[in-house]
Amino acid sequence: MSEETEKDIFIVSPSSLDTLEACMRRYFYTKVAHLAPKEKNEALIRGDFTHEILENYYNGKKDLRPDNLHETLEYASKRASERIDLESSLAEVCIDVFREYALHYVNQDWEILGVEAKFSRVLYENEVVKILFEGKMDLVVNINGKVIPIDHKTRARKEDPNKLANQYIGYAWAVDTNMVIENEIGFQTSKKAAEKFRQSVMSYTAANINEWHENAVYHSLRAYELTKENFFPMSPAACKFCNYYEICETTPESRPFKIGRDYTENEAYDLFAQRR
Ligand code: SF4
Repeated sequence: MSEETEKDIFIVSPSSLDTLEACMRRYFYTKVAHLAPKEKNEALIRGDFTHEILENYYNGKKDLRPDNLHETLEYASKRASERIDLESSLAEVCIDVFREYALHYVNQDWEILGVEAKFSRVLYENEVVKILFEGKMDLVVNINGKVIPIDHKTRARKEDPNKLANQYIGYAWAVDTNMVIENEIGFQTSKKAAEKFRQSVMSYTAANINEWHENAVYHSLRAYELTKENFFPMSPAACKFCNYYEICETTPESRPFKIGRDYTENEAYDLFAQRR
């Protein structure tokens, strides 16, 4: 076995960085135990279905399908009838919003380089561990010769992007660019298309990106060490809106019951499982 393969591999993603920076106990529940609340929230289902429609749509644009919008609408209707987690009324709303979105940007001529584009880059390496930063970008485009990752965000109300988010600045680092676009898709019924559909451009200096990298390495190494020690401390300052509050607020001995009743254990998901 080579020296290389004897090293531990520790994988972080934009979302796992958010989690491990906020609370290591939450990191344990999400990324180690793979627990998710049994009850799926509507915003998540809406976002998931809309992303699925957009994936089909931008793949069609990439392949220059002549009747792309029509084909995507047909695909969306078919998927709406197949998905058991999706109420038909919610599916209709998603499809209507998508149609309005596609017509709003009908003349946008981005060159599509990748859809649901996977990336993996070594964030840090020493003699014992290699930390990989991995994920999937909704879209990667070429605008005037510049490679720009794009993230779709579905929202019930308008919200400005967090330029410092691990997702955005991490994407810039991962593909060695200095620009990322958040593609906001609003679901407000009272707003005009121009107000609901906003594309916010975030640009970064090399110093911004270096600073992100230093922070990401620090937090990832700390998480790696704590994971090896199997110690996942709680961070009560981060509890507001946490999906695991119901678990943490109970006594340690009653947690297994609470978990069994209200949470499901998902399968571990490895983006590059076949490669490793
Ligand atoms: S409820 Fe608080 S302590 Fe528990 S996992 Fe969430 S953030 Fe951490």
